[in-house]
Amino acid sequence: MTRQQPHDRDVHPQTRAVHPPVITPVASRPLGVPIYQGHLFGFDSADALANAFGAPDGAFMYARMGNPTVRSFERALAEMEGGAGAHATASGMGAVNAVLMALLRSGDHIIAQSSLYGGTYALLHDLADRWGVELTHIPGDDPAEVREALRPNTRLLYLETISNPVTHVTDIPAFTEAVRGTDVLTVVDNTFAPLLCTPIEHGADIVVHSATKFIGGHGDIIGGATVFADPAVHQRVWEHATELGATADPFAAWLAIRGLATLPMRVARQSASALDLARRLAAHPAVARVHYPGLPDHPQHELARHLLPDGSGGVLAFDPAGGREAGRVFSEAVQLVTLGPSLGAAATLLMHPASTSHRQLDAASLAAAGVGEGTVRLSVGLEHPDDLWADIEQALAVLTSPGPTARLAARP
Ligand SMILES: *Cc1c(COP(=O)(O)O)cnc(C)c1O
Repeated sequence: MTRQQPHDRDVHPQTRAVHPPVITPVASRPLGVPIYQGHLFGFDSADALANAFGAPDGAFMYARMGNPTVRSFERALAEMEGGAGAHATASGMGAVNAVLMALLRSGDHIIAQSSLYGGTYALLHDLADRWGVELTHIPGDDPAEVREALRPNTRLLYLETISNPVTHVTDIPAFTEAVRGTDVLTVVDNTFAPLLCTPIEHGADIVVHSATKFIGGHGDIIGGATVFADPAVHQRVWEHATELGATADPFAAWLAIRGLATLPMRVARQSASALDLARRLAAHPAVARVHYPGLPDHPQHELARHLLPDGSGGVLAFDPAGGREAGRVFSEAVQLVTLGPSLGAAATLLMHPASTSHRQLDAASLAAAGVGEGTVRLSVGLEHPDDLWADIEQALAVLTSPGPTARLAARP
């Protein structure tokens, strides 16, 4: 039985104003996903409300547990990643936190790549220092590293498909194979390679995304998601994520859904432009080294050809000749490219890690992280590659022109 609506009754205008009719299309349906901005849902039966508690795919009741717009995004992403289910989070770090805190307890051991997103690295060390989680970092070059690091209390193996900023590619099939037959779950942060790589098909148990980057794609949301191969793991992480309060907002989820529609085209365009720019940079005399998996001299080029057959993504890095100051001067000499900390947006973005995100590291620690003092990271956007190259070329010319060379030499 459907409850009588207040507007059908004889009530005061003040009461009517609080209860507008909620219109649900019946003879037709919306083509796009509507934004369900409300955080709560009403029920006609106490049993139906009681049954809505406790499951990630239960009836909608309170939006921290689930929301139709957010669920559309979750379903679309689960399908894209070949997972059984997904949970959308308020940020990529919300996704990383939800997974680690749901699946680890004090005394557990985690094996993680050493070259990781800065926030993830900090969180792992926080869990190790304050919560007694044992942590082993591995370079991520050889699955034998995992077999050596395994302990009876190892619970998670944490990897990134392509890692930041020097585009290290991880052999996901070989690493998941190394923990097959154990209880260890493999988590892969696939933020740099949506659509290009589907880690679950290569044996991963959980995929993590920052939807802030390529999935959102326009630099206008903070969002994230976790995708699961196994519904039981989905249930465990969902329970913790709802306690943590790291749930996605419907509007951000709606923008992420809009982002998915153009993701295939953007990823293809950004990969093609990145390869084009990587080749031009590699041939430029003011560039000492280019890091891009699509180039034959990249250390994991052969692996990338198999793992990322449709393209190596929109992020590349390069070392201008001249070290730290060259990286810094270049990053301030670009005009079309924006000096800014994110990636995966429509606009091309640049970072000089040694003077910004990694500024607290000395030369030795930078080298251990695989980052050169002059290394510049480019997240290639959707501009015409010739316009991007013109800007990069003029900024490289600044490095080699007599004035700025003197400026370089004069800087402390
Ligand atoms: C940005 C990023 C994150 C964190 O995502 P937020 O949405 O900023 O919280 C995690 N992993 C990788 C690889 C990232 O690039």
